[in-house]
Amino acid sequence: MSDLTAEIRACRLCAERFAATHTAHAPRPVAWFSPSARLLITGQAPGLRVHQSGKPFDDPSGDRLRDWLGLSACEFYDKSRVAIVPMAFCFPGYDAKGSDLPPPRICGSTWHERVMQALENVRLTVLVGGYAHKYHLGVKTGVTQTVQAWRDHAPRIFTLPHPSWRNTAWLKKHPWFEADVLPELRAQIQRVIHD
Ligand code: SF4
Repeated sequence: MSDLTAEIRACRLCAERFAATHTAHAPRPVAWFSPSARLLITGQAPGLRVHQSGKPFDDPSGDRLRDWLGLSACEFYDKSRVAIVPMAFCFPGYDAKGSDLPPPRICGSTWHERVMQALENVRLTVLVGGYAHKYHLGVKTGVTQTVQAWRDHAPRIFTLPHPSWRNTAWLKKHPWFEADVLPELRAQIQRVIHD
């Protein structure tokens, strides 16, 4: 496993792609997992702040996600229990309008199968955002429809929207998410983490 994380951290496959973005940054893969992890969180890709810190979800989105999951920062960052594997390990950069670029597909095709094989103790997977929903479930539905259908995949898989501030209006519009999905998600996480 340490060899795999070292390989990922050394990856520079997207160097040219990132150099051509508005942010013109170099790859900095953020790989955060160990084989004993029981909970897998798979999101989109690191943002600029995570790119700078090297720690996943080290930003306001992470604060909201930890609240959704019912985990303290200490529990969330315990690699022996929680694996954090985004659709791309590096910050994809911004376009000329300052919007996030999508996670490069080459990251998934290069690394994900090996990472998933290494995570053989995972008992609960949390898919955060549309990219993760589509990749891991093969669904073609939009985020709202996929999250609404959460019972189709629970209790082994939960589908969440992205915890970005951009989704605050979405949360207000869909109160069933906090009322119905989160209590069940938190209960399942406590069961898996402490069992
Ligand atoms: S995004 Fe993935 S494939 Fe691209 S450089 Fe980073 S680790 Fe490598």
